[in-house]
Amino acid sequence: MTEAHPAPELAEKAARLRIAVIGGGVAGLVAAESVAAIGAHVTVFEAADAAGGAVRRGEADGLTFDAGAESFAVRGGHVRALIEELGLGGLVVSPEPGGAWVAGIPGGAAPLPKGGLLGIPANPFAEDVRRVIGWSGTWRAWLDRLRPPLTIGHDHSLGRLVRKRMGDRVLDRLVAPVSTGVYSAHPDDIDVDAAAPTLNAALTRTGSLSGAVTEVTGGAGRAPGAAVQGLSGGMSALVDGLIARLELLGSEVRTASPVERLERDADGWIVRVGSVPEPGASPVPEPVEGTSRFDAVILATDEATARRLLAPHVPDLEAVTAGSSPRIEIVTLVLDAPELDSAPRGSGVLTVPGSHTAKALTHSTAKWAWLRTAAGSRHVVRVSFGSQGEDPATAALDDEAAAALALTEASALLGVALRPAQLRGSQRARFVQAQPSAVLGAAERRVAASAAIAAIPGVAATGAWLSGTGLAQVVPHAKAEAERLRHDLLWG
Ligand SMILES: Cc1cc2nc3c(=O)[nH]c(=O)nc-3n(C[C@H](O)[C@H](O)[C@H](O)COP(=O)(O)OP(=O)(O)OC[C@H]3O[C@@H](n4cnc5c(N)ncnc54)[C@H](O)[C@@H]3O)c2cc1C
Repeated sequence: MTEAHPAPELAEKAARLRIAVIGGGVAGLVAAESVAAIGAHVTVFEAADAAGGAVRRGEADGLTFDAGAESFAVRGGHVRALIEELGLGGLVVSPEPGGAWVAGIPGGAAPLPKGGLLGIPANPFAEDVRRVIGWSGTWRAWLDRLRPPLTIGHDHSLGRLVRKRMGDRVLDRLVAPVSTGVYSAHPDDIDVDAAAPTLNAALTRTGSLSGAVTEVTGGAGRAPGAAVQGLSGGMSALVDGLIARLELLGSEVRTASPVERLERDADGWIVRVGSVPEPGASPVPEPVEGTSRFDAVILATDEATARRLLAPHVPDLEAVTAGSSPRIEIVTLVLDAPELDSAPRGSGVLTVPGSHTAKALTHSTAKWAWLRTAAGSRHVVRVSFGSQGEDPATAALDDEAAAALALTEASALLGVALRPAQLRGSQRARFVQAQPSAVLGAAERRVAASAAIAAIPGVAATGAWLSGTGLAQVVPHAKAEAERLRHDLLWG
């Protein structure tokens, strides 16, 4: 699938290469496939019992669903291209057109207005906008049209820009729910240029924020969520496809294999799996049997682990500030709840920060037709907790208590009284989310970290902490980083 057709002597050289990939999330698997495609032998080391990382399967009441990532952004076409290359194109599905709601406003909840950008309305007088921000919010937002023309100038912060032009109501009730829901970050910390790269030029042309949003979105009432797609059966089909491809290429994925240390000697890299003993205790674990030396390593773990493993080899990395990594928990509930048949809150609910304990809710059986079919009369609802600077409210709870809290939050967010007796099963998943690329300063940090790593021969690193969160960023970065390493190994 990767366009790599090395000349015979290069093919021979490639076939002798042994490469270790540490971390079997999508980034690690895509990077592994890209180097395996030229004939190199790749071993993927994955700490967990299953590969996939944030793209993982959940199961409750006999039903299988996505416990983490459930979709991909169509932007850029990279994920779709990968899916097609793996022969999975027939599984691609679009979410149902229901759209999301916003909760935590006077009156409880309302549909998220259509046609905006990052929650910024194109027309503050539109009825669906007015319903969320009220008349006073609408008049304040309209001042944007009367104020002197603007360019983003120094307002790289999305929050500052929106507050200044359109006021607190638009910021708090429309933009903040979207930015915490999508980026797990407050709009004050979001870089406008990174989150909406074409907005700046549109601002210069139109002179107002709402005018710029109209121009960028084409003024059309595009339903929120229309820019993502999923896979019938769940996004973990992508992980299964990548693993199958790797096996076909003669490479292997070793699960339950946490890498604790990376060493280097004259013959190459040594990967040590298992726990590193305290000083003076039993000896350091042996290198993995049969894979004692690797010509190169690709780090594809979370940021903290990558930094720990790379520290002895990439000393310049220490000077680069680490990104924040919010902890997220998702509790998926399988419910007997005919009162949800009408999808009372569309595909799900985003919350005004501080208004609810949960950050967001997805009514998965309303959003995905394939899951509705599998669930029959049951409903699947995902409740998310935690965002940047705020640990999940479920963090200290046991699974039963976490499910009970998720049920209470689901009742509040869906506006439907759900009783414990209606809960048929639940599943809880914990994640550390990499800093989104749209967070202020993230791009500079990523460039500096990548430069420090690229300076060391035989090492590559990828993953959401370097590419930005989201499969649309993770996939092309992993391919590009593997390509860089391949080039260095074959031609360097
Ligand atoms: C809850 C949630 C929902 C999301 N929803 C979406 C979505 O709908 N659409 C979208 O595009 N993106 C979504 N994302 C983002 C997207 O899933 C991630 O950006 C992407 O999957 C990250 O891939 P990765 O390989 O970089 O990291 P990860 O998936 O985190 O993989 C890293 C892997 O490294 C392993 N590892 C760590 N330490 C070691 C070690 N010492 N040795 C060996 N292995 C190790 C981990 O176990 C893990 O499997 C979501 C993320 C989360 C957390």
